[in-house]
Amino acid sequence: MSPASSGPSARGLLPDELRGWVAAAGAPAYRAEQIFRWLHAHGVESTAEMANVPPALREALEAAHPLRPLALDVVQTARDGTRKLRWKTHDGRAIESVLIPDTDAERDKLTLCVSSQVGCAIDCQFCATATLGFGRHLGADEIVEQITRATAIAGRRPTNLVFMGMGEPLHNFDQLTRALALLEHPWGAAFSPRRITVSTAGLVSGIDKLAALSPAPNLAISLNATTDEVRDRIMPINRRWPIAALLDAARRFPLSHGRRVTFEYVLLAGVNDTDADADRLVRLLRDIPSKVNLIPWNGFPIQTDGGPVYRFQRPPAERIRTFQERVRASGMAIYIRSPRGDDIDAACGQLAARPDSDLATIRPWTPTPS
Ligand code: SAH
Repeated sequence: MSPASSGPSARGLLPDELRGWVAAAGAPAYRAEQIFRWLHAHGVESTAEMANVPPALREALEAAHPLRPLALDVVQTARDGTRKLRWKTHDGRAIESVLIPDTDAERDKLTLCVSSQVGCAIDCQFCATATLGFGRHLGADEIVEQITRATAIAGRRPTNLVFMGMGEPLHNFDQLTRALALLEHPWGAAFSPRRITVSTAGLVSGIDKLAALSPAPNLAISLNATTDEVRDRIMPINRRWPIAALLDAARRFPLSHGRRVTFEYVLLAGVNDTDADADRLVRLLRDIPSKVNLIPWNGFPIQTDGGPVYRFQRPPAERIRTFQERVRASGMAIYIRSPRGDDIDAACGQLAARPDSDLATIRPWTPTPS
């Protein structure tokens, strides 16, 4: 069967869909669980690796639902131990995932930052991914495979998954929710939704749909401004769903005991980092169980006719500290997210799947000085 006439990847099929295919193929029902386990618990790259599945059934599966695995293109390791994985999709697109070990070894946390789209359509002015424009949505299989393959590379399952890589996950809602169902299924990696965070630039319709999942994953909102005037300018999506509408959606989001909405706030010098911003932030979030992650802007130049230009600047360390203290004085939980992997462009907002020519800048791995 030619790829053109074949269906979606077997890795994107939900257990019921796999059961249906197995039954139609005339095979016993337990084969569905075996196949699902190979794909999602073991993360195999090809059907040939499914040792206890008869070759004829494997071949039929490959013909009907070819796996089209991601090809691991480049692994870069930062000085702080963060690893950026660049993948090539079957149609030659580049996407990235980032493995972020916790610097506090006691907590033994390993966070995986996952991409949901090739490029992004949202056009936030401070984000490197936006400069790529929108390529396409990732399939659930391509989302899930970033996790199974990163698990193999790390030698352990990540403790936390964050949809904070390339793309806007709520713009790709159907494949996102399919991927969540696959990741959470007990036959597979069995992630708890409490360990999964979906981050959005503020698609209110998507937040409401996410809220209807039960159980819902954690929600993070990239707020990044305290007035509509500024947010309109740096995040065009604010013209569709302004701050008040966005925060109403956050208030509607179901929070079980002890859970909070995370607000990300990229600090841009002279744009959103004043004392007045800090005070407005407190007023805006006062009645929402929340915590704030301040992200000092991770810079990247854009190319202009006059040469490379930085559109923004990171505020001085002193300003960042003062902003945090001012908000914290209100009793609100607010943390500075230190840039992880910024020497390999793996930090927030730096994922832009650069062409090979830029990779000469990779630094060899050296242990982080203690
Ligand atoms: N589209 C989703 C998922 C991406 S998450 C969202 O916007 O939430 C990426 C996070 O990094 C967002 O909180 C975004 O505001 C932040 N970010 C983007 N560009 C950045 C940059 N250059 N420096 C620091 N943070 C950035």
